[in-house]
Amino acid sequence: MTTVLFLGLGHMGGPMAANLAAAGHRVLGFDLVPEALEKARAAGVETVTDTAAAAAEADVVLTMLPHGRLVLDVYRGEDGDGGLLAAARPGTVFLDCSTIDVAEAREAAAAAEAAGMRAADAPVSGGQVGAEAGTLAFMVGASDEVYAEVLPLLEVMGARIVHCGAAGLGQAAKICNNMVLGITQIAVAEAFVLGERLGLQRQALYDVMSKASGQCWSLTTNCPVPGPVPGSPANRDFQPGFAGALMAKDLGLALAALDEQGVAADLGRLAQAKYAEYAAGEGAARDFSSIIEDIRASHTDRSEA
Ligand code: NAD
Repeated sequence: MTTVLFLGLGHMGGPMAANLAAAGHRVLGFDLVPEALEKARAAGVETVTDTAAAAAEADVVLTMLPHGRLVLDVYRGEDGDGGLLAAARPGTVFLDCSTIDVAEAREAAAAAEAAGMRAADAPVSGGQVGAEAGTLAFMVGASDEVYAEVLPLLEVMGARIVHCGAAGLGQAAKICNNMVLGITQIAVAEAFVLGERLGLQRQALYDVMSKASGQCWSLTTNCPVPGPVPGSPANRDFQPGFAGALMAKDLGLALAALDEQGVAADLGRLAQAKYAEYAAGEGAARDFSSIIEDIRASHTDRSEA
């Protein structure tokens, strides 16, 4: 049994913590939102108010937070108190499963190591459904030793776990993958809009593309038109799924990394700009595949011009 201090019991963290507790681990949970704490308690998590005291008991401090600045604040403290890095026992593993900037992930790992702790980043894909089912995919950045230590916990929460390299490289893999996802979801949407205009039946285009070189997840799982893939968000008025706001966030992280590394990546930058604009409006709360509606509308405008 491992004692895990779990910070961030939201859409993802809540069910992840519940799965760890159900597997027999001792889970000490903290969130700022009372309803999240209540839900976690009902799922077997021991909720705490004093996170520093809980960190001193923990083998692993696991964070599942909205962004990297929060992770750094939790690790180092906001007011010079040293945060949880000062409170935990030496050698405690700080495992961040949030999706954050690669540079911030490396900063967090360096701060942990400087404080005598060990660090890993393990962002996920699979959404809330995967978090509840314990079938998340984890992309892990950690030393071999730390990877081996966190693996049994990740296996409780996930079904596919890849060790991507040293600390920070889990985040790197996540943003590379999601950059492809953002680009391909737009590409598939453009193909369907063009097909519609040319008089192609959706199902016919799907039957061709799903067995041809246009095949990809954005088509065969997240098909942006209703019909060909009954489970895709397009069949339920684009309820997420993976919300546009989260895609915009991940592409923003990709953009930061592209800039930092000096990579041109025209399509990645275009996808980032499109999703940033889309998520500033109604696209924020809808599945990101709903960007097809935006593409359909702008197509109409142009043909009328
Ligand atoms: P969420 O907003 O539902 O949950 C985050 C939780 O963190 C909230 O309950 C919030 O109250 C809590 N929190 C904020 N500051 C805190 C602090 N200082 N201490 C303790 N708790 C604090 O977000 P989510 O959807 O669960 O996403 C969490 C992370 O997982 C994000 O980084 C997100 O990008 C990533 N992610 C989400 C999905 C998804 O489909 N939702 C998929 C993959 C990755």
